Amino acid sequence: MTDCIFCKIIKGEIPSRKVFEDDLVYAFHDINPLCPTHILLIPKRHIASLAEVSAEDEPVLGRMLSIARRLAEENGSSGGFRAIINTGHIGGQEVAHLHLHVLGGPEPVGRMVSPRG
Ligand code: AMP
Ligand code: ZN
Repeated sequence: MTDCIFCKIIKGEIPSRKVFEDDLVYAFHDINPLCPTHILLIPKRHIASLAEVSAEDEPVLGRMLSIARRLAEENGSSGGFRAIINTGHIGGQEVAHLHLHVLGGPEPVGRMVSPRG
């Protein structure tokens, strides 16, 4: 995808603070961290959202989940973390390239979602 900001980050066309990369996954610090630890894990292949995945994506989805603990620990959240995948309009997804938020830090991150106001 030529106009996808996360694809541009993977290609190095937009700068990022990379924390991990392998054949399937790229991970970097969120530009607007919501917690002391806020890492984004993304598939290198463009997938728009968790609503667009198919069986062929199972290896990269598994890699994203299995690497999350290590990246949380290495980036200041050794006592656990929260993993979130916002999906589509209802899920509050803003960037249309699938991404796993890994959130944490020295203190518990708080309630999972805000109550409706
Ligand atoms: P979501 O609302 O789940 O789509 O999350 C998108 C996330 O991408 C937000 O937390 C943004 O702060 C983050 N983000 C957007 N642009 C960049 C960027 N250039 N580098 C790092 N994080 C970004
Ligand atoms: Zn993309």
